[in-house]
Amino acid sequence: MTTFSLDPGPDQIAVRDWLHGFAADVIRPAAAEWDEREETPWPIIQEAAKLGIYSLDFYAQQFFDPSGVGIPIAMEELFWGDAGIGLAITGTTLAAVAVLANGTDEQIGTWAPQMFGTPEDVKVAAFCSSEPDAGSDVSALRTRAVYDQAKDEWVLNGTKTWATNGGIAHVHVVVATVDPELGSRGQASFVVPPGTAGLSQGQKFKKHGIRASHTAEVVLDGVRVPGHCLLGGKEKLDARLARAREGTKGGGRNAAMATFEASRPAVGAQAIGIARAAYEVALDYARTRVQFGKPIIENQGVAFQLADMKTRIDAARLLVWRASWMAVNNRPFTSAEGSMSKLYAGETAKFVTAQAMQILGGNGFTREYPVERMHRDSAIYTVFEGTSEIQRLVIARAISGAPIR
Ligand SMILES: Cc1cc2nc3c(=O)[nH]c(=O)nc-3n(C[C@H](O)[C@H](O)[C@H](O)COP(=O)(O)OP(=O)(O)OC[C@H]3O[C@@H](n4cnc5c(N)ncnc54)[C@H](O)[C@@H]3O)c2cc1C
Repeated sequence: MTTFSLDPGPDQIAVRDWLHGFAADVIRPAAAEWDEREETPWPIIQEAAKLGIYSLDFYAQQFFDPSGVGIPIAMEELFWGDAGIGLAITGTTLAAVAVLANGTDEQIGTWAPQMFGTPEDVKVAAFCSSEPDAGSDVSALRTRAVYDQAKDEWVLNGTKTWATNGGIAHVHVVVATVDPELGSRGQASFVVPPGTAGLSQGQKFKKHGIRASHTAEVVLDGVRVPGHCLLGGKEKLDARLARAREGTKGGGRNAAMATFEASRPAVGAQAIGIARAAYEVALDYARTRVQFGKPIIENQGVAFQLADMKTRIDAARLLVWRASWMAVNNRPFTSAEGSMSKLYAGETAKFVTAQAMQILGGNGFTREYPVERMHRDSAIYTVFEGTSEIQRLVIARAISGAPIR
């Protein structure tokens, strides 16, 4: 008989403890330095690659872990170490998931390993969808992909922005419009192989948080890629475009939404890692900081703050684990449970890190303590991978069926 259990099994515990050790021994001691340097921490990515933590195999194993919690557990531990370095280590998975979700078996086999490189020669990959005029509104993409039938090549032109690893990536995955009149149904994803002429990095952004993760514009100026770089292949695209032109409801948009629902819990788990780290610092501080002759935790006002922090972290984790379990078991996200988990975890990270700063008083405001960095890092979790408002929109539409704008 199957019983209900929230206990991670021995495999998940082993992964959690292994990654926790790496986060504590390698990531955390380096966090402040790379945050100040605002550079990709290549030596740490390489160290992770040598240990097998930065590898396609590792993520694939966690991704297909039948418990569903392999990826959330891994993300929480790495981001407990540090979010900027965590994103530098995991940013490649964004592009890898795009290939896994849209590519043929042959495309997955060709491109996914190249995205990670080898432990001796590590590489990163970038997923480029957002544009200056198309952030939340992904249907407004202007980057064009035009097919050159004579050469069996696609020609890409446009400017992408906010790309994690943009310009420093070995492989870029670019979303472009093939037929602008069809909005998001007229779009397709393309792999831009290493060294392709016409792709260049625009400005690199100086950011508020996650500063060890590289974020930049990517300019595509007459970029020519072979026909086989269209993810999913031309036949499938042509059939999808034909359905869209006829106004037939195709599976394309629903499939994209299902992919988002399945990937958002992983982002929520990253936010939980940050929140848990800040909570632990605050709990420790509240126990040892003495004012008015007693540890500040003995004030109900402070203890209640910590109680709320811990409760929200645990609630967020349950939402994330549920959504991940649903994804692995192919349950329909009828109430947008993936978006729910990301919304709640992102807001929780911002709430908990702000409370932690308050509990640390003046020290919380300095770079002597890590909570101000954690607070800066947390702020992105209500913005990227869909802002909190967009998550609410998705949930509201799912539960109501109404065309809420
Ligand atoms: C550090 C960082 C890394 C990123 N990495 C990547 C990446 O690797 N690849 C990639 O493609 N993109 C990436 N992004 C882009 C990110 O996904 C977008 O910034 C995000 O989707 C929001 O788009 P926007 O910034 O254009 O904001 P906008 O869409 O302009 O939104 C501005 C505000 O308006 C609100 N809003 C917009 N529409 C509505 C609505 N209908 N109802 C209510 N409120 C609304 C938003 O919630 C937000 O508060 C990254 C961004 C950052 C900052």
